[in-house]
Amino acid sequence: MTSDNIKDYDIVIIGGGPAGLAAGLYAARGNMRTIILEKLIPGGQLNNTLDVENYPGMDHVTGPQIAEAMENQTKRFGCEIVNNCNISEVELNEGKHIVKSDQGTYRGKVLIVATGSEYRKLSVPGEKEYSGKGVSYCAVCDGAFFKEKKLVVVGGGDSAVEEGTFLTKFASNVTIIHRRDKFRAEKIIQDRAFKNPKINVVWNTVVPEIKGDGNSVVGVKIKNIVTNKEEDFPCDGIFIYVGLDPNTQLFKGKLKMDQAGRVETNEKMETSFPGVYAAGDVRETPLKQAVTAASDGSLAATMAIEYTEGLDDGE
Ligand code: NAP
Repeated sequence: MTSDNIKDYDIVIIGGGPAGLAAGLYAARGNMRTIILEKLIPGGQLNNTLDVENYPGMDHVTGPQIAEAMENQTKRFGCEIVNNCNISEVELNEGKHIVKSDQGTYRGKVLIVATGSEYRKLSVPGEKEYSGKGVSYCAVCDGAFFKEKKLVVVGGGDSAVEEGTFLTKFASNVTIIHRRDKFRAEKIIQDRAFKNPKINVVWNTVVPEIKGDGNSVVGVKIKNIVTNKEEDFPCDGIFIYVGLDPNTQLFKGKLKMDQAGRVETNEKMETSFPGVYAAGDVRETPLKQAVTAASDGSLAATMAIEYTEGLDDGE
């Protein structure tokens, strides 16, 4: 710690999902003084996934199991991890970036942004009001509350179709409501859903409103976008999986981003600001998986180590 109460590190990593943990592992193993600042607990989106079957070398493990193994391995090499860390501000200064949080202020020669993404909201009446009262974004967390209940899932990507299938473990039936006439989910995920007798799909349909009785969800309004016909669809809960928004609020106006607010990087994971790297779902990338996030993190850390060596030469 320095006299100005700022804790100094070679590499400060924001976010402890697979990208941040892999970056921490590579940075600490590369002898860098490294810290990960995580807003909850390490694992990121892995913590919302019960069955991971496409992480190479790990067949059918839970997301939290991979997260825990990554966390332990990263710590073993000396990387510090701060949990429940709420960051209020980031100041980018070449060679000495400052991160202010409720757990302290940290200065890094390099910053690795691995803040991931969060579930996008549907932004319709009733969604906010009944959030936690029948509206959910996490089947793993909330599915067990809906034993023998009638559920709706909104979306047509991997998350909607995979989590819809998972919810049939609890629900009496699951209706996936999708705005187009085909899913974008991977074929293997779709095939499983189509074979599941508890799953029904309503195509070309959106959910303009979520209805409740004051205490909990009792149904949704659905609208067929081809015929414009609207009707009420009774259900006990709705799981919303309409995509992910990157967590980049802290970096607006500071790092170059695409239209969706994802951080732009080159093939070395360098952002538009010298000494600031981005890894995982937060960046503009065509594949968002735990394995690609981990790959990004390891590459970002390796490039960051090279960068700090250049800085040290100049000191
Ligand atoms: P996604 O791939 O972006 O899919 C979002 C879905 O929601 C799309 O089907 C989209 O419809 C629909 N949608 C978007 N906005 C909507 C709105 N306002 N109203 C109704 N529907 C709306 O998101 P995701 O499924 O969360 O997946 C995110 C990333 O994680 C993807 O890269 C995915 O491959 C990855 N992932 C992988 C796995 C796995 O490998 N097992 C599991 C989960 C997620 P359109 O299709 O019409 O655009």
